[in-house]
Amino acid sequence: MNISKDTAVTIRLKVSDQQGQLIENGKEPVAYLHGGYGNLLPKVEEALEGQAAGFKAHLDLSAADAFGERDEALVQSIPKTQFPPGVKVGGQLEGRGEDGRTHVFTVIKIKGPEVILDANHPLAGKHLKVSVEVMDVRAATAEEITHGHVHGEHGHHH
Ligand code: ZN
Repeated sequence: MNISKDTAVTIRLKVSDQQGQLIENGKEPVAYLHGGYGNLLPKVEEALEGQAAGFKAHLDLSAADAFGERDEALVQSIPKTQFPPGVKVGGQLEGRGEDGRTHVFTVIKIKGPEVILDANHPLAGKHLKVSVEVMDVRAATAEEITHGHVHGEHGHHH
């Protein structure tokens, strides 16, 4: 079977940054629902479209094709008094951004009474090297399509 919209695809995905630091080691296969459900980077889905089990590809993704360029406007300073005690550099919290969407904020610095938060994706601005190998392709079930993800061994568990 070939990969097309609404197929459940099991892959091994290895991702590293430009310095060769591993982000995903690819040891555990992952299953995703193909067809623009946001489970995989669009550029990776594009490379897999029409392929079958056994296909391998190496992709070099620019930051724009991966998690986007960094936006320094997403770095903001918030008074420490607005945080629960124990706020630490490297800590992450979820909150609503000015656009009304949920963002993950990372504490990048604590400067006296101010906490500096970064709402960029942790991989924003990074050029990524992706190795992908297709292990299995099958038709997705109606339930998986409704949920927007794959169930089963390497998929989503409820
Ligand atoms: Zn589900």
